[in-house]
Amino acid sequence: MSVATVEVDVAALLHNVNCFKRQAPHSQIWAIIKANAYGHGKTEVARFLQKQVDGFGVARLSEALELRSVGIIAPILLLEGFFPDEDITLLERYSLQTMIHSPEQIERLRELKTSYPLNVWFKLDSGMHRLGFRPEQARHYFNLLAACPSVAKPINIASHFCCADELDNPYTTAQIQVFDDFIAAIDDPALVGLQSLCASSGLFGWQTAHRDIVRPGLVLYGISPFDYQIKDKATGAALGLLPVMTLKSMLIAVRDHKQGEGVGYGQTWRSPRDTRLGVIAMGYGDGYPRGVPADIPVMINGQLLPIVGRIAMDMIVVDLGPDTSAQIGDEVIFWGPDLPVEKIAALSGMSAYELVVHLTSRAKLVYKF
Ligand SMILES: *Cc1c(COP(=O)(O)O)cnc(C)c1O
Repeated sequence: MSVATVEVDVAALLHNVNCFKRQAPHSQIWAIIKANAYGHGKTEVARFLQKQVDGFGVARLSEALELRSVGIIAPILLLEGFFPDEDITLLERYSLQTMIHSPEQIERLRELKTSYPLNVWFKLDSGMHRLGFRPEQARHYFNLLAACPSVAKPINIASHFCCADELDNPYTTAQIQVFDDFIAAIDDPALVGLQSLCASSGLFGWQTAHRDIVRPGLVLYGISPFDYQIKDKATGAALGLLPVMTLKSMLIAVRDHKQGEGVGYGQTWRSPRDTRLGVIAMGYGDGYPRGVPADIPVMINGQLLPIVGRIAMDMIVVDLGPDTSAQIGDEVIFWGPDLPVEKIAALSGMSAYELVVHLTSRAKLVYKF
């Protein structure tokens, strides 16, 4: 047992990919492993999944280069494309695919000389209004992109949903319509490559949008992207997935505590009774958010117990109760298969995305097979 550990269940990761294959049997699966694979360790996750998926998506060129440097040879897509100051000859050298979302990017590709044409994806803004070509300009820019000698044809076409986690929101239907209208309007249908619309919530909520390629991120790690109130979709388990991450540590002290005494910085909590407190080696230095409200539960020996007092950089205190049998060295689980991260997210008013991505390098990643 060690302190502040992020345990990653590799079998669960593989199970989840198989689940996607049943969910979208006709689609390629590109696993999204940006932000260090949502805290799960991108190089390891890429190694474990390399044979199971069709490609990977990352948000930064640096992430893609790191994957190449450890020998990942699978296709890699830069989800936000290359940035203004980046050396785009690296795309050719390291065989990276890039999203193209701006006229400036097309301009740079137009001037680029390559020894083979690059695989690029055209990003349509179907309604998110963050990145991508607006529908009324998209045909023009698609043709410009297709005319670049450095660009391989046909060109994949992608878009991103902004409200797909809301299962009855008609905006997603409208986005699909904008996408289909654009595809239908392309002058030369032979230029249309594979279509991709769905991230996690599209994959599990919008069957008609699966198309040729799905891009699951959060669900890869066994976490539901849907609202915790939606009973049959509240957790990864409800979707048929297995949670991949267990965040845990151990008790480094178990102490007597008197009624009326406070604990920790600011003495923000006072005990209503004589009790025993446990001190856990975990804190915001490991990425456990300092801002979670009082009473968030942790699990010790199968029992849910409330965090008390402020979360510090290195320590978290829990009220074990007067009759506890917990001892120094006992394991403490912050989230995992028996205490869903979605529940902690809902209780703390944070998103599960944020909780897992937030973990720091001090929390040790351990892979369980
Ligand atoms: C992050 C991202 C995804 C994955 O999103 P999830 O909700 O985690 O599945 C897919 N596509 C794009 C373009 C992204 O930026």
